[in-house]
Amino acid sequence: MNRLLLPTLLASAALLACASPALATTGGVDPDQPASPGEQSGGAGYGAPLVTLPGKPRLSAQKLSSSTITVGSRASVVVRINRSKGTSAQVRIAIARKGGKTINYSPGRVTTNRSQVLPLPALAAGSYRVTVSVFGATAQETVRGGVMALTVKPKSVTKPKPTTPAPPSPTSGVFPVRGAYSFGSDGARFGAGRTGHIHEGQDVVGNSGLPIVAPLAGEVRYVDYQASGAGRYIVLRANNGWDMFFAHCQYSSAAVKAGDRVKAGDRLCLLGSTGDSSGPHLHFEIWPNGWRDSPGTKPIDPLPQLKKWAAS
Ligand SMILES: [Zn+2]
Repeated sequence: MNRLLLPTLLASAALLACASPALATTGGVDPDQPASPGEQSGGAGYGAPLVTLPGKPRLSAQKLSSSTITVGSRASVVVRINRSKGTSAQVRIAIARKGGKTINYSPGRVTTNRSQVLPLPALAAGSYRVTVSVFGATAQETVRGGVMALTVKPKSVTKPKPTTPAPPSPTSGVFPVRGAYSFGSDGARFGAGRTGHIHEGQDVVGNSGLPIVAPLAGEVRYVDYQASGAGRYIVLRANNGWDMFFAHCQYSSAAVKAGDRVKAGDRLCLLGSTGDSSGPHLHFEIWPNGWRDSPGTKPIDPLPQLKKWAAS
């Protein structure tokens, strides 16, 4: 914490008791300035008796808890008022904003003869001058404190990290194979070993010629062919951002072309065994952040979602 301790303020030890009202206006005192003990004591030159008021408060120390804070946190001022008479004194705090208004804040009566922590009100960002004043019974007893600088910094806006949020799991949709099916053996599972790679989807085994439909509404990205692997395949970009990959469709069965918009349940192709396939099945993949759009994108295990669609 950055502590700012001001020089101790010492009021003059003696205060002139005004012998006559005229005295207070003599001696070249700036009428705009509040009467202060130092100026009034010049009255001694007129031969008036000096009287020490035992109850006169003395602001012996004041400091800010911190000279720099952030918007939302509160600064406080620590004051100590020494007074031989009474147990409290009235305190006022002027908080002047640079180029703006001055807030006059009154914490009320403050216990004397010990250090008190007085919280300041919440402040907007800016530079401030904080002045503490102690009021005695009369204007002559007023002690104006020194000026402390307080800086209130704006909250630093932390930009949220640009991450690719996983799209929410669709709550509705239809199972992509129309007809009797099974999820096959362990080798049909997502993550199963393959020569040189792992299985990136879930196989749905069924009879050749079953309709394969769009589980979710979206737009067809690709209708293509890969002889050594996926055979006749389709990539659909669903409206939730997912890419879905359908492989091994029968030749000449594609019911859509790239750019077509489809609704959930619309036919894409027919179940087949084209490409690297040992029997009729749909090879199905889900890519939440785009099908092979960047080296960082990865497919997820589609089986939980397939089961949701099967149950809906
Ligand atoms: Zn497969």
